[in-house]
Amino acid sequence: MNYQHKNPISQTEAKQALRQTIKSAMSVLKPPPKLTVAEWADQERRLSSEASAEPGRWYTSRANYQKGIMDAISDPLIRDCVVMAGAQVGKTEMLLNVIGFHVGQDPAPMLVVQPTLEMAQSFSKDRLAPMLRDTPNLKGKVKDPRARDANNTTTHKVFPGGHVSLVGSNSPSGLASRPIRIVLCDEVDRYPASAGSEGDPVQLARKRSATFWNRKIVMVSTPTNKGASRIENAFEESDKRFYYVPCPDCHHEQKLKWSNVQWEKDKPETACYVCEECGSAWDDPKRYRAVRLGKWKATDEFKGVAGFHISGIYSSWTPLADAVRDFLSAKKMPETLRVWTNVYLAETWEDQGERVDDYAVAERAEPFGDKLDSNIMLLTCGVDVQDDRLELEVVGWGKDEESWSVDYRTLYGDPSTPHLWNDLENILKNIYETEDGRQMQIRSACIDSGGHYTQAVYNFVRPREGRRIFAIKGMGGESRPIVSRPTRNNIGKIRLFTLGVDSIKELVFSRLKISEVGAGYCHFPDDRSDEYFKQLASSEKIVTKFHKGFPRREFVKTRTRNEALDCRVYAIGALSILNLNLNVISDRMQNEKVKTTEEPTKRPVRPNRFRGNSFVNGWR
Ligand SMILES: [Zn+2]
Repeated sequence: MNYQHKNPISQTEAKQALRQTIKSAMSVLKPPPKLTVAEWADQERRLSSEASAEPGRWYTSRANYQKGIMDAISDPLIRDCVVMAGAQVGKTEMLLNVIGFHVGQDPAPMLVVQPTLEMAQSFSKDRLAPMLRDTPNLKGKVKDPRARDANNTTTHKVFPGGHVSLVGSNSPSGLASRPIRIVLCDEVDRYPASAGSEGDPVQLARKRSATFWNRKIVMVSTPTNKGASRIENAFEESDKRFYYVPCPDCHHEQKLKWSNVQWEKDKPETACYVCEECGSAWDDPKRYRAVRLGKWKATDEFKGVAGFHISGIYSSWTPLADAVRDFLSAKKMPETLRVWTNVYLAETWEDQGERVDDYAVAERAEPFGDKLDSNIMLLTCGVDVQDDRLELEVVGWGKDEESWSVDYRTLYGDPSTPHLWNDLENILKNIYETEDGRQMQIRSACIDSGGHYTQAVYNFVRPREGRRIFAIKGMGGESRPIVSRPTRNNIGKIRLFTLGVDSIKELVFSRLKISEVGAGYCHFPDDRSDEYFKQLASSEKIVTKFHKGFPRREFVKTRTRNEALDCRVYAIGALSILNLNLNVISDRMQNEKVKTTEEPTKRPVRPNRFRGNSFVNGWR
């Protein structure tokens, strides 16, 4: 039997039919797209003028480390991608390329999670919409936003074969609706620990993709604090890829490190990168060229998660001189240095030395004489109220807030009876004499009213506000002011001050660490008990939990008794309420001393000399 010879026409038909069958079979199977994300971006992507300093074609080679990251996202063998990145390395553009790739080339349902709904909306309006408008390959795929169609809203955009939804990480409903194949979680370190009461936002988003064999979960962020950083924790679980750059001179491949960025003192414009192998200095163009030739190297075993770390040092958009300038201004304060470390170096920040060594402080204690040190200019007092006693510290203050713990006492008794308060009154009225013959009283006192005896405290302070004896309540939390404006909105109608106790504790701890007599130094008498110093160092600053997406660093008690620390905190509050410039007073005192020595009869030393109009400086 030979059909071929019998019927040659039907052979052609058969061939055509076969071709048709294959074609339709292929279209049903939908083969994986030919291009990777990076290839798609190079071929199709256009940068919009409102979102880019260099509008027009996209070139991955401009910042070549982006290629490895984007290719991993389109690699079918990789399910999870973790990108721990600094600012200025183009991470938002990379995410946009992923979205563009899946709109234009490999349609899929996508979810973009931003920390908040507002951030999701602005990402949609300011970044996504311009890309959809200006990239020819995407044009028309999503309906014109002016059509007021439900298929193109700010947070939901439909295109042939898929859609992209944009949600805030704090919205459980947004995170738990349709099935999703591509989940893009941006700035994950700003997510709350739980979306409402529904649990971890990243886990919620991840669950949405469970039905897709070819799902992809991408997490991108600059990191925050050590131990509280989602992106770092995820990176630690990954194969930890770093970008190695060959030296243009010796070809040694190296990770770029901040320690190899060098500049002449006070001349950020001289900044250059120094090869760790041969010591050759790279200026910016040389560094850009080197980065173009770099490659990613995994430093751990691949267990399904590809992790990328990239700092601002690799950025093709930030001159090193700018980075050095930012660093020099950030390093003045731990808070700004922390932000710079997170955002530029893409490294977590570890709180250092938030504990004080009580032995070291006790070791420095010194003999105090019967009279006050002549450097003391004024006295304040902090009072802690307990169920069976009052504890108080009298602190002497000198120039640059050098301090002397003049007295520490425990007054036993029942705070609901007058006897105990009479004892306190006697101390507050005490007259102290200094070594150079001045006399002084306590200028200001703060009494904690936050405990069980609020009313008793109010009753005590009410007739004494004129003597600057105040009720306070402590409030924890980062970056709270030391003293807030007082309110009278309380049952006693008294002037109630709120003290930012964590801010003050931070101050106390930084002062206790000063070991050189002078500015900020704390003097203690050598007859103080060990228990006192243990109480003084009784807190530790640690990350306790996430709060509204930010890790919360709080002081936590390391001992049950910490009255000594509380008393010092309140005494500092009392000084702060006075709102005085100690150095101005010190200068005035020096001048007066000179005058007194020269013309001893003219100006006798007046007791309580600083009681005067300085109080009216205003509340803080
Ligand atoms: Zn070299």
